[in-house]
Amino acid sequence: MLISLSTWKHGFHPNRITYDALLAGRSALDAVELGARYCEADLTCMSVGRGGIPDASGHVTLDASIMDHEGRCGAVAFVHNYEHVASIARRVMEKTPHIMLVGEGAEQFAEEEGFTRTSLLTTKAELLYKEWAKQPDKLHVRLRRAEEGEHEYVFVSVDEDGNHTEIQRESVGLPPINESHDTIGIIGMDSEGKLAGACTTSGLAFKLHGRVGDSPIIGAGLYVDGEVAAAVATGTGELVMRACSSFHIVEMIRQGMAPEEACEVAIQRIARDKQLKDDMQVGLMVIRRDGAWASRSLRPGFQLAAASKRLGGANQLYNVTEKSISLAKEA
Ligand code: ASP
Repeated sequence: MLISLSTWKHGFHPNRITYDALLAGRSALDAVELGARYCEADLTCMSVGRGGIPDASGHVTLDASIMDHEGRCGAVAFVHNYEHVASIARRVMEKTPHIMLVGEGAEQFAEEEGFTRTSLLTTKAELLYKEWAKQPDKLHVRLRRAEEGEHEYVFVSVDEDGNHTEIQRESVGLPPINESHDTIGIIGMDSEGKLAGACTTSGLAFKLHGRVGDSPIIGAGLYVDGEVAAAVATGTGELVMRACSSFHIVEMIRQGMAPEEACEVAIQRIARDKQLKDDMQVGLMVIRRDGAWASRSLRPGFQLAAASKRLGGANQLYNVTEKSISLAKEA
């Protein structure tokens, strides 16, 4: 059974690429990697690969992981100069006895493996950074919780009493478009019923230099057990890391829980996190070994792209809420 699921609205095109690769007979591992690569090179996506939003020191740093049906996995974190981090993660998995390489070591490995070195900072991302850097304490960037699945960074000014007011993007010199953002997580099942997943991100905007989120952490941002299920997470990485959400979902399914219920229980666990704040969001998706899939999010506004043989092969965008999944307008 062929299935591919990708996080967020900007996962629509990567999901098409992933599903087409599955249709062409590629393995789930190849297919999720191809989808991830598309997003990493897409400059309109300011949360993955080149074009990602910098950290607090102005550097773009990338994290990624990949995992296959046999439990093989690889990850890289804090990568500064290579855009295709999901592929580097795959190379770590295939060519080293290790699972994760970070920073300079990961870059040295990428260099030795022939990956192309490139600058990750684009003019647009730099402009956003400079605007933020003018008053980092006063100008907050927060995740929008919109009804229709738009999920973007918004600038917010904070007055002396702590009141937040949203600032129009045009007034800080940014184009008035909704740029979707966040990690792209892709999980897929191929014609042999094998599962795989990939997760790739530039992490939270303006994060502390050196901060690594959930995406490259096996069990947090991504977990695959070929006999059970594949799960992936997106959103505030610290919440996902504390709950080991992807592993949590897969283990509950192993014990017989339905995918929908497993997502629900994993979200409830996150909802009890003592450091949870109103502007934090988490989206979870899972495919069970028999092809049943589910998704839940902490708050409205999460979308996913899904394509499967059962759905007639059409790539469709779904709104996911804490209660239900409904078909959204196609991107
Ligand atoms: N999960 C990612 C991180 O915390 C960010 C995201 O999905 O927006 O690095």
